[in-house]
Amino acid sequence: MFNINTVTLSDGVASGSVLNFRKAIKVEETKDVPKDKRGIERKELEESLLVSLNEINCLVDEVRKSLGDDKASIFECHADIISDEEFQNDMFSLIDEKGYSAAYAASVIAEQNALEMEELDDPYFKERAADFRDIGQRIVSHLVKEQGCGEENFPPHKAVVVAESLTPGETIRFYKPNLLGFIVAKGGKNSHAAILARSIGVPAVVVSENMLSLLKDDTPVVLNIENNTLIVNPDEKTIEKAENIQVLQEKRRIRLKKIKGKPAVTKDGHLFKLYANSGSMKDLASVKTEQPDGIGLFRTEFLFMEQSSLPNEEIQAAYYTKVLETLEGKPVIFRLLDIGGDKPLPYLQHPEEKNPFLGWRGIRFLLDNEEILRTQIRSMLIASDTTHQIVRIMVPMVSCIAEMQAVQKIIEDEKKLVGGNAIAGMMVETPAAAMNVLNYKGISHFISIGSNDLTQYTVAVDRESEVLRKLYSEFHPSVLQLMYKAVTDAREAGMETGICGEFAGRIEGAAILAGIGFDELSMSAGAIPAVKEILRSCNFVDLQKLTQDVLALPDAESVYNKAHTFLEEQGLLL
Ligand code: PEP
Ligand code: MG
Repeated sequence: MFNINTVTLSDGVASGSVLNFRKAIKVEETKDVPKDKRGIERKELEESLLVSLNEINCLVDEVRKSLGDDKASIFECHADIISDEEFQNDMFSLIDEKGYSAAYAASVIAEQNALEMEELDDPYFKERAADFRDIGQRIVSHLVKEQGCGEENFPPHKAVVVAESLTPGETIRFYKPNLLGFIVAKGGKNSHAAILARSIGVPAVVVSENMLSLLKDDTPVVLNIENNTLIVNPDEKTIEKAENIQVLQEKRRIRLKKIKGKPAVTKDGHLFKLYANSGSMKDLASVKTEQPDGIGLFRTEFLFMEQSSLPNEEIQAAYYTKVLETLEGKPVIFRLLDIGGDKPLPYLQHPEEKNPFLGWRGIRFLLDNEEILRTQIRSMLIASDTTHQIVRIMVPMVSCIAEMQAVQKIIEDEKKLVGGNAIAGMMVETPAAAMNVLNYKGISHFISIGSNDLTQYTVAVDRESEVLRKLYSEFHPSVLQLMYKAVTDAREAGMETGICGEFAGRIEGAAILAGIGFDELSMSAGAIPAVKEILRSCNFVDLQKLTQDVLALPDAESVYNKAHTFLEEQGLLL
């Protein structure tokens, strides 16, 4: 028995034997199709595109029925790509002008697009490379005859599937009772394969590539029984423990389904608002299925990233209007464009900085580019005017009062021009903001803790650092004390209090945050049911006591353990 370090893509414990998934199709490099035969290749490609499109459309229907609209939209996007004229013409011209075979042309163009995606800095777009490879494989599969380990009935028996990487199409085709979990060497939390694994409830982890050679077919493994660990050749005791957990997991899934649509109210009657985080219109469909009380963080930067130049007022206003309409009157907190740090915009000049996270990001960048800020605020006010809803505007990376004052002034100016109604609040992402909340009275109408950044700035650890991952923890008492002070002061100043960092979606985190007394917890939609169960199963006074207890502890580990044990004692871990 030995352990391999992992990063969890999808939670849940799995125990079983490994089965390696070998990619099926090899395409020969053919660039010498004679001119008189190129028409045939072209025709074959046209047919393959048609068959692939039909297949995807069937998949969209199937997935929509089994997993809902948002997951279906992943494959709708594949259908859009396949039907895209430019994408098709690129392949046709390789055949017509260069003599490539149909299969080779398809694989080259799909790979070219995938590489272009991988080169982008934004992790969301990087992950889209897998979508292009998936599409390429699909087209090619109708052009070449030989196929390796057939995917049709894969895995043929109960197994943990191991692959270097998985495309969304593969991930979804594996969905059957034989699939116990995934181990991959490539793919991040934002990859569609990871998103699908989470939504079908299959545990999934990433390991480093050189570890894959240790995972030969039939090797027994246990995933996720301990944090960030894959156990290889587990002993009997470990297997038994894993199997017991699996039974409990299934029971829990059924339990959580039953509280959908019910309020997040504690046993002694304290009501919390559970909001969802979202970043795009596409996201909103799945977000709505969890019936959140509102959107606590709408990351507007994705709208900007999807464009090739700055979106104008018209585009933005239409977009924000659509978001408000989709939420049907529930509150939406729009975050102003938060670029810089780890989120550059390819079409905006941004100087190289030694420490981008300590640099020209969020509101600092916006105030130096006032036209961008004004246009965004104006667009939000127009959306408010059109929908007759109040728009909530959240300011990222605030570190001094002047920044909030400047935003408030711009809101007032623009309101006079276009109407609408807005309230503005600040993200508490810097210790400077957290310690100074009282002084924002009357300037900030609400606060929302951005715990992802607040943690990195408090413990002085880059949130993306692999090497320092152990030091980056929201459970650090200093992070919690900052949150506690910020919330207490905000309450005194009459501001609403929320949190929208990842911490709110972790059950141990949510229990502590509830005890701090946030009005609203905002998280990725998938985390809502588990957090709601905790709130509905506890007394507010006990959560408050938990918070007071952890605030007195000396380090992150003891805080986490205390919260974990608290949940365990209440029978809430599984
Ligand atoms: C945060 O910092 O906690 C946050 C929600 O913002 P982002 O992760 O987008 O920086
Ligand atoms: Mg942030």
